[in-house]
Amino acid sequence: MSALPAGGKIQAITRWGEPVMHKPCREVTSFDAELRSLVADMVATMYAAEGVGLAANQIGVGLKVFVFDCPDADGHHHTGVVCNPTVRVPVGRDRVLDDDEEGCLSLPGAFVACARTDTAEVRGIDLHGRPTSYAGDGLLARCLQHEADHLDGIVFADRLSTKARKKLYKEAARLAGDFPSGWPTSR
Ligand code: ZN
Repeated sequence: MSALPAGGKIQAITRWGEPVMHKPCREVTSFDAELRSLVADMVATMYAAEGVGLAANQIGVGLKVFVFDCPDADGHHHTGVVCNPTVRVPVGRDRVLDDDEEGCLSLPGAFVACARTDTAEVRGIDLHGRPTSYAGDGLLARCLQHEADHLDGIVFADRLSTKARKKLYKEAARLAGDFPSGWPTSR
């Protein structure tokens, strides 16, 4: 577990439909002050939006880095920063799917059931350029998969049936007035 960088500025969250959300981000190659500043802004924005994770393209920067502060199945909070993540999920006999509700700060307010493996491990590089990894269950397993997906240009609607996707968009449209353009800076 690592401490998240503080002192960042809250940014407007980029919504689904913007091109940066739907194409793979670039690998991080410089572990410098600029990266630390970006990550501090991501942390401030994640907390302002009351999310459990945030990917860089969700504040409009197409770089492979995400942050999280998320509870596991036992309610223990895990925090971290992962650059250039690769995800490993159980296969074969060990593969168990959870069909819990999932939402996304880039389609704020709406939730729908989405099948994900009940555990996941992510490996990558930390803010200082050193190898790092996180593994977990419960909401943490879902969050690690969801955020790594973002950096590959995948939003969770891409993993839903047509029916579930329609339900999700309908709910998001109903709640759109609660999340004006510029949210969460506009709160
Ligand atoms: Zn998301």
